[in-house]
Parts: sequence; C-alpha cells; structure tokens
Amino acid sequence: MDERMRKRLEQLKKDAAAGGYKLNPDEELVADLAEGLLANAGRYGQEFCPCRLVEGPPEENMDIVCPCVYRDDDLAEYGACFCGLYVTDGVQTKQPPDRRPPRAERQAAAEAKKAGAAIPTALKYPVYRCTVCGYLCANTNPPRVCPVCKAKAERFERFM
Ligand code: SF4
Repeated sequence: MDERMRKRLEQLKKDAAAGGYKLNPDEELVADLAEGLLANAGRYGQEFCPCRLVEGPPEENMDIVCPCVYRDDDLAEYGACFCGLYVTDGVQTKQPPDRRPPRAERQAAAEAKKAGAAIPTALKYPVYRCTVCGYLCANTNPPRVCPVCKAKAERFERFM
C-alpha cells in the first residue's frame, strides 16, 4: 500500500469517527473502495462514488461525491451505503438498490429548483443546507467543511 493510499484510509477512518459514522469492518473492501475514490479524484477532480457511473459534466454529479447524498437513507434502511463503505452497528439487511434518480429526472429537478428558488429577503443571513447530512447553517457563506459529516462547502445548497 502506497503512502497516498495509507493517508486516504486514515482520513476516511478519522472523518467517519468524527461524524459518528462507521466504516465497513471488511478492510479489503474499504481499501478497494478508497482506491476507486482516489482514481476518480485523479480522473475527475472529485472523489465520485466508486460504484456508480459519472454521467455528463462533473457538476451534474455532485450528488455522488463520496459521501453521497444517498448514504444516510441507505444506512437507515439497509444498514449500509450502496457501495458498503459505510455501515451501521446493525446487520446489513440486503444490498441497497441504487436510489439515485436517472439523469433526466435529476436534470428536471435541478431546473425546477432553479426556477422556484425565491429566497425570502427578511432573513438576516441566508441558510445553507448540507446536501449530504442535512446540517443547516445561517451565515454569509456555507462552512468550508460540514462539522457533522465533513462534506466540503461545494456540497451545500442555498436552503432559505
Ligand atoms: S457513501 Fe455513497 S458515494 Fe460513498 S461509497 Fe457509499 S454509496 Fe458510494
């Protein structure tokens, strides 16, 4: 295992623990997935999910930058994320189906969101929402890193 990989694994463990998440105890699987994350980072500039296809430009795929926005629902429902990188304490009930909507549906939702994005002006600060864990933050800008799940600022959306 090279130094880059060792550091990435260490960071994954640290971030998971800090956010109250658990990595799969299968270290070989975790190492394979971490390798996929690093490969995607090299190819696309983002650690896209190693188990899914990147469709279209990278900015259309921010929902699957790891940790993806589907992780928490999969953990709650199946005890593991789609790839199995994250698990809960309980037993994994079955392989989660991919809950990511098809590309056309995602594009339509993004358009609808853009069209209806009226921001109330009475608020002193805008409210930003972490698309990964739902953390809300009222401030001039989103935090650089989500204090709960460690997602980066670009994973935040304007909520109000
Ligand atoms: S959290 Fe999401 S993006 Fe990350 S490995 Fe699991 S399924 Fe893939």
